[in-house]
Amino acid sequence: MPDDQAAKAEKIRCDACPVMCYIADGKSGACDRYANHGGDLVRLDPLTVIQSGAQAVAFLDHDPADWDGDLIQGNRTFVTAVGAGTTYPDYKPAPFIVSQQIEDVDMVTVVTEGIFSYCGVKVKIDTDRFIGHERAVVRAGDEPVGHVMTSEYGSKMLSLGGVEHLTGGTKAEGRVTCDALLRLCNREAVELTIDDGATVVVQAGQAPIIDGQPERLMRVGCGSAAIGMFAKQWQPHVDEVVVVDDHITGVLTEHEAGKGLDMRPSGIRVNGRRSTPGRYFQVAEPGTGWGGTDVEDPLSILKSADPKKAWPGLRLLMISTTGEQWAYFVLDADLVPQPAETPPALRATADRVAENCEPSMCSVLFMGGAGGSLRAGVTENPVRLTRSVKEALTYVSCGGAEAYVWPGGGITVMVDVMDMPTDAFGYVPTPALVAPIEFTLRREDYAALGGHLDHVQPVDSVVLPGTRRVAAKAGQPNPHARENYRWPGRT
Ligand code: SF4
Repeated sequence: MPDDQAAKAEKIRCDACPVMCYIADGKSGACDRYANHGGDLVRLDPLTVIQSGAQAVAFLDHDPADWDGDLIQGNRTFVTAVGAGTTYPDYKPAPFIVSQQIEDVDMVTVVTEGIFSYCGVKVKIDTDRFIGHERAVVRAGDEPVGHVMTSEYGSKMLSLGGVEHLTGGTKAEGRVTCDALLRLCNREAVELTIDDGATVVVQAGQAPIIDGQPERLMRVGCGSAAIGMFAKQWQPHVDEVVVVDDHITGVLTEHEAGKGLDMRPSGIRVNGRRSTPGRYFQVAEPGTGWGGTDVEDPLSILKSADPKKAWPGLRLLMISTTGEQWAYFVLDADLVPQPAETPPALRATADRVAENCEPSMCSVLFMGGAGGSLRAGVTENPVRLTRSVKEALTYVSCGGAEAYVWPGGGITVMVDVMDMPTDAFGYVPTPALVAPIEFTLRREDYAALGGHLDHVQPVDSVVLPGTRRVAAKAGQPNPHARENYRWPGRT
């Protein structure tokens, strides 16, 4: 036999995805998820189960090595698809179809790592700072991986990934997009640059870093909302407050809140477009200064005071929507604001604004379409799975975490990666993301939708000594809980 054929003969072929790697002994395949161990194809990451109940306390620090408890012992175990493996071609039954008795109900969970070409992440970045215009291209390195979406209340939103970036562009674009998605979903930090905008380091569960500056606080509200919240606390100490905000800048005495408190109109006037009394749009350009504007000197947004209303000695507080920037002025004889020493009581109100701001954070939600071929691993009649999900007979989870299923056609799911076990995601070089997905339902409903009943196995035959066990996250719905289902007698 020629040498090259002999070498190939020693390799085994992984059939878990369309790449079909030949893997030599002691090596792993292109995705690093499968390896050849002495001629056996093995999945490198351990199967992961979620453990809830008293025994799970040992896992609350998420160190599986500390676990020495018996798995069952009256606690509830949920087999996730993390480490379960994928199937290809799709008609094969899912890697694990496990059954267990939950109280008086025989439940089945179908467990698979789906290969998602149609997937991406939605990123919420808690900041008022300008990071880029809506629709601006977001890049990882030089490659486009997504775009800026709408601004939300105190946050900026990015849409990253999706099939057009994964497979619709160049090879490099697909590879870089897949890598960025993988790292974001596995809670790693990823640096993104936005065309005509900022450089942002995004990491799920961590504060964003914008142009090198870690963001600290999410705004308490817009300028108008801040006026409404703190008007009563400001009133005894000042004659006017301007809350600087890229969205709505608030002017206390002109605002309904000031009128309601019988405050005297101050004659302080701001730039921008008046929306309603005391509420102004576009007082400055978006930026990384006060309240998400480009303002560094707050006086730059003031027009000259109205001489018919303003008076010498008028006390003016200017403050941003996070309370991080503030300045105090007193009008001189020419009605020009002059910096003055801030009374302690007024300083305390600025601290109160900051105290009411939540910590700034990045949230990463994985979104993928599971309404395609992976359904064949669940049932021989795929549309019945879709219907069963829509009818709430089947509960969908991702790595044991509650998945929001979008209305309408398909099984389009969205899940917070922070609710999932760590390192729950993988990839294949097609390129596509590999994400865990589980379908849980009653055995009788599984039979009714044409499930692979001959592949059902009891849960304790799947959970072996090498299984990774993680604690159920506080507040996460248990996939087995009856309130998740619409079947009769669920109460
Ligand atoms: S990329 Fe991974 S899953 Fe696909 S064939 Fe290679 S080793 Fe198997």
